[in-house]
Amino acid sequence: MLRLGCLFVIIGLALAKHEVYDGYGLYKVSVKTTEQVELVNYLSKALDLDVWSHAIPGHDGQVLVPKDKKPLFQNELKAAGVEFQIESDNIKDILDLEDHLLSEAAKKNNGSRLDSLPFDQIYTYHQVDTFLEMLAAAYPETVTLVNAGKSFEGRDIKYIKVSSGDFETSTRPIVFMESLLHAREWITLPATLYAIHKLVIDVTEQDLIQDIDWIILPIANPDGYVHSHGEFRLWRKNRNTNLGVGTCMGVDLNRNFDFQWSEASSNIPCLDNYHGRGPFSEPEAAAIKSVFDQYIDRIGLFLDIHSFGSMILYAYGDKTLPPNALMVHLLGVRMAESIDAVKMSWNPNYVVGNSAMVLYDASGTASDYAQFIGVPYSYTIELPGHRFGIGGFGFFVDPAFIEQAGFETWEGIKTGARFIRDSFKKSNV
Ligand SMILES: [Zn+2]
Repeated sequence: MLRLGCLFVIIGLALAKHEVYDGYGLYKVSVKTTEQVELVNYLSKALDLDVWSHAIPGHDGQVLVPKDKKPLFQNELKAAGVEFQIESDNIKDILDLEDHLLSEAAKKNNGSRLDSLPFDQIYTYHQVDTFLEMLAAAYPETVTLVNAGKSFEGRDIKYIKVSSGDFETSTRPIVFMESLLHAREWITLPATLYAIHKLVIDVTEQDLIQDIDWIILPIANPDGYVHSHGEFRLWRKNRNTNLGVGTCMGVDLNRNFDFQWSEASSNIPCLDNYHGRGPFSEPEAAAIKSVFDQYIDRIGLFLDIHSFGSMILYAYGDKTLPPNALMVHLLGVRMAESIDAVKMSWNPNYVVGNSAMVLYDASGTASDYAQFIGVPYSYTIELPGHRFGIGGFGFFVDPAFIEQAGFETWEGIKTGARFIRDSFKKSNV
């Protein structure tokens, strides 16, 4: 009886965890005209709504609406003739379901033994940190663990260098990739961990470490990520509390890089795309910059892994194109084809294009910065929003999709890595 009581207490705690999102509705919005696009954008701003994907004609948007704002939001949409569907009337139910599924998966594995890296869990910051330490100790010939700096709250921002030779004296091209710059995009973590697994532990394709060096940074936004494992699963930014305005905190790290900084982002700290006080004002963005500073001559491919939407996006966020845009597009298409060939049937094919043309204008992004400073091929990859087989619950993770997310993204990464290796060889003949 006591055990049963404990169980109820535990379930009660789990259910209480997402109270802050109780009654939040997830709306699918279909727009047909520019006026309707503008209305949805206006409403989202005026009501301070969390826009998961922007509605444009031919592409439905997804908007999260707090309980008390639902009537007004719906009335305005109806008055303007904008079609909408309520995908979830209470997003807390989905969050509870996600928790339940993930904890069941974790139990099957007797907790979490990362040395064998079961791909049915989303690992915490601490678990990933332990794994990276273990990896560096177990594979000293190929893996070097580096601390790029400290986050706002003082957590290490660690990455690994993988090389079959001496990384520092190597002349090979580098593939640099990172995940979790946006905290809530949990499904991006398996993509980098899977790559590490295939480059270090279960090496089945020798050529990938023969002529290519790798830099892999799994948790680019440690504080935000830790925060998203607590009360605020849908937290996106870092945890900077030093912004001087009310109680709002956090900077969108993917608007904080020094390229077109502040031109298409928000100067309001309460908003999710707040760009910070200046370019590289945030220690997390500055840590990533330090990697570019050190290895810019050799980085041939940069992949900033986000979710969601099944997209491979490239520079620049103001609709202008880099001089090698044709080649950037071509490689993007090749990577997309590699992923599409093995993707889940219910996820759409990847869309490849300029980020502003496919999505919306954005400034200060990591991938634009990389392209601008001389990385020849730089992309933001938006992983699929896996939907539990039924709907579009973009950020939520079904354990059954975790390994697939790693596996299919790896197919695209391999295509990109081999392409830049071959073009690097040609340019060095
Ligand atoms: Zn993102």
